[in-house]
Amino acid sequence: MSDGSKEFTCAVPAVTDHVELAHGGGGRKMRRLIETTFLPAFDSPAARERHDSAILPVGSEKIAFTTDSFVVSPLFFPGGDIGKLAVCGTVNDLACAGARPRWLSAAFVLEEGLPMAVLARVVSSMRETAAAASVDIVTGDTKVVDRGKGDGLYITTSGIGVVPSGVDVRPGRVREGDAILLTGDIGRHGVAVLSVRKGLQFAAPVVSDCAPLADLVGALVGAGLDVHCLRDLTRGGLAAALVEIAADGRATLEIEQDAIPVQEAVAGACELLGIDPLHVANEGRMVVFLPEAEAGRALDVLAATEHARGAVRIGSVSRGVSGPVLIRTRFGARRVLDLPAGEVLPRIC
Ligand code: MG
Repeated sequence: MSDGSKEFTCAVPAVTDHVELAHGGGGRKMRRLIETTFLPAFDSPAARERHDSAILPVGSEKIAFTTDSFVVSPLFFPGGDIGKLAVCGTVNDLACAGARPRWLSAAFVLEEGLPMAVLARVVSSMRETAAAASVDIVTGDTKVVDRGKGDGLYITTSGIGVVPSGVDVRPGRVREGDAILLTGDIGRHGVAVLSVRKGLQFAAPVVSDCAPLADLVGALVGAGLDVHCLRDLTRGGLAAALVEIAADGRATLEIEQDAIPVQEAVAGACELLGIDPLHVANEGRMVVFLPEAEAGRALDVLAATEHARGAVRIGSVSRGVSGPVLIRTRFGARRVLDLPAGEVLPRIC
């Protein structure tokens, strides 16, 4: 600045006059936007739970209801595309409520000039992923915007699932003594997308973990395990999921860094890019909170499923108050884990 004054960065993001990319990044700015703008306007008991899906009573049954928009760039990446992502993201948010996903809607915003072959490829991918997740895409919408104003293709998917009786999965059920399980290695989705966007080359290609997770949740519930909370690790990564659950579930979490699996190529890419794998988005991973006594059996159940063969125990819940997430590093030191401050990786899902 010409007057010699200094700009400071602050721990609490300032309210800004305009929307920034970071407001969609899953970090502190997005959380603040939700708290200051959306929650006050749309307050309801279901919204106050701040869960991946709203759990709603319908007669004597409970349904889960959720929605998600997908703006990933590029549209295709190793291990997936915007269509697969749009189905998996919504299916996984329903699964994180303990629900069996049933029906999806799909709304398309298409840019004038998008090749029909691209659209056909995306739609075909959605059909295949929906079949793999045992959901039906039953309604939708199409809009077209002018050339140059849409970036090819955006998709919004909403979903409805049925919560089996007796299942109650939400941040408010996290308890002192709960074990925290992670369903596999982290960071692959974000690095896979970024590798295409930035033209990064690895010895072995990093493939997105993008996958529907309803089957593994069904296996946990079907085994009669008392699952307290689930959260898929999307924007903001494992760190954001844990920090949000600690805050919303009024808990202190203790995590062992060495227990968290990260592929060598992912760790290398993160180091190169100056980002923390704990903050990198995943699209086929979740954390599971349940009583310590059930952790061993839950790991066995997860290991037998297609998308959680590498499930591990990464930590535990230590106190039942709204507290920090403490991560023990490999040198024995403990640090407090926080939400990413800005935009780690824009347009990642
Ligand atoms: Mg989610």
